[in-house]
Amino acid sequence: MEFKEILENYRKWLSTKHSANTNASRITRVKRIAKHYDILNEYVNDKCESLIYSLTYTKGDVIDGNEPKTDIVISGNYVTGLSSLKQALVEFVSYLNQIGYTAPAKKGHKAFFRGSFDDFKRYVGPKCRNEVNIFCKAERESHNGICEYCGQKAQLQSAHIIERPIIIHDILERTFKTGDDCYDVDLEAFFDLFKQEHMPIRDRIFFLCKNCHELLDKKKTITEQDIRNKRGY
Ligand SMILES: [Zn+2]
Repeated sequence: MEFKEILENYRKWLSTKHSANTNASRITRVKRIAKHYDILNEYVNDKCESLIYSLTYTKGDVIDGNEPKTDIVISGNYVTGLSSLKQALVEFVSYLNQIGYTAPAKKGHKAFFRGSFDDFKRYVGPKCRNEVNIFCKAERESHNGICEYCGQKAQLQSAHIIERPIIIHDILERTFKTGDDCYDVDLEAFFDLFKQEHMPIRDRIFFLCKNCHELLDKKKTITEQDIRNKRGY
């Protein structure tokens, strides 16, 4: 079943749940998310868990100066805006659970990208960002909100030892280059390599409070080695 068809059935299913207005806005929000993410594919991957995580943005994040984890642009308040999107998605996921959605059989064509580095960042970049959020989640949680450098309890930020665009560019250059700023990319192979480049997470990313993150990235008063020293290697 295609997304459109599923959404039509979902509309009927919803009609017994809430008021007509609520249902209409829930559908609109699911469509909105679908413009940025392949919801059914995300559902097949992990029941949309990582996508739901990407839409999670709290008052605490605002206070700590954390950026939203999604590229969806909200006009107005990001906390309430993303929270409504998340609520709509969670309900849609419960519908997919109920109908036992499974992926349609693949047609056997590989997904390819051909173009420049800038276009790759534009079209595939958001997915890369989402993937990094997924890789980091468990590792971040294992730190229990304790900054690796100062040891204070805080909303932790991910400090990348090598920035994402540099990692992406290196992979493209190494494996998929076909001309001057031109790349032919087998996307599945790309994401395998992209994931490998982030492993082990512990050696790629430091989990720091906002202040220490700034000291490392902007003010440069602490170095990577200082943080490694704290870790004891
Ligand atoms: Zn700190």
